[in-house]
Amino acid sequence: MKVAVFSSKSFDREYLAAANTATRHDLLFLEAALNEQTSRLAGGCLGVCVFVNDSLNRHVLKSLAGQGVRLVALRCAGFSNVDLSAADDLGMTVLRVPAYSPHAVAEHAVGLILSLNRKLHRAYARVREHNFSLEGLMGFDLCGRTVGIVGTGRIGAVVGQILTGFGCRILAFDPVENPDVLSLGAEYVSLDELARRSDIITLHCPLMQQTRHLVDEPFVERMKPGAMLINTSRGALIDTKVVVEGLKSGRIGYLGIDVYEEEDALFFRDLSDVVIQDDVFSRLQTFPNVLITAHQAFFTREALSNIAETTMQNMSVFESGDVPGAHRVRGEFAPSSTVVG
Ligand code: NAD
Repeated sequence: MKVAVFSSKSFDREYLAAANTATRHDLLFLEAALNEQTSRLAGGCLGVCVFVNDSLNRHVLKSLAGQGVRLVALRCAGFSNVDLSAADDLGMTVLRVPAYSPHAVAEHAVGLILSLNRKLHRAYARVREHNFSLEGLMGFDLCGRTVGIVGTGRIGAVVGQILTGFGCRILAFDPVENPDVLSLGAEYVSLDELARRSDIITLHCPLMQQTRHLVDEPFVERMKPGAMLINTSRGALIDTKVVVEGLKSGRIGYLGIDVYEEEDALFFRDLSDVVIQDDVFSRLQTFPNVLITAHQAFFTREALSNIAETTMQNMSVFESGDVPGAHRVRGEFAPSSTVVG
């Protein structure tokens, strides 16, 4: 089938083309992100293949459906950028890659924790300038610290495993308890209790109506003074303006983020010659205790290879008319979990 691959980078072309040698779909690689202005580029295609910051609101989906597009193949796990009820109304199938490498994201989250704690980002810059002073670089032992994991699905569970190895105590919050996480000796508690007791809080739940701005003013007020906050899930789990205030007051001691609520306008491109217009993002960059990566937690060879293979299989199975339930976005979560776009 012919598929327009939006937001495709060199690595997407490489891994998707390699996975396509057996399936032989006709892939039209487009650098443009999918939005109202670019949806027409999918003319003549039965499917579109999209990533996290492509916009699939009702308007875009209507335009795609009008051109004969029937499949949205997400090459990611999250689907908060797709208006699922509009896709349903238009008779479009939305498939995703539910799991590709929880280790990739979990290890990146732990990397942010280690870097922030031992100030590796600052040490690297200092040593390059031949500044070998240790002033301001003191960290703490992770062993014996309490880590709160919000969302103990595939990624959260691996984070729990890794940090248990460091000797951390694990608190967890999730509407569904994961036996693998319980077997680590983790304690499921309320979100309030997790906020109050954790030295480090790491977010691994999906973005939905009820998790949007999960980290809001009351949450930050409940946090242990000086605690660390990590978000590798979706940017809008955090109210960034509130977190900036928390950093200014010292209530939040460290912030590590791989995702940002307004990242669509920034991430996945080189803006080094451009004046950044986002003042909240620019403020975040001024803090010495903030470490930002640009949505790269998934970015390992293993993850890209798994994403590409599952995406190609999704297209083939859709073409054969036998859509895999496990990869279909609708019905994965309870009906109450309204996805926000
Ligand atoms: P998963 O579905 O395996 O786990 C999500 C967990 O969140 C589930 O256990 C679910 O019960 C729980 N949950 C649902 N509602 C919740 C709530 N209100 N409060 C707390 N927990 C809740 O998903 P996963 O594979 O572990 O991925 C987690 C998230 O990571 C994805 O939703 C995605 O947004 C993000 N992600 C980010 C990257 C990246 O590169 N930064 C890559 C992949 C995934």
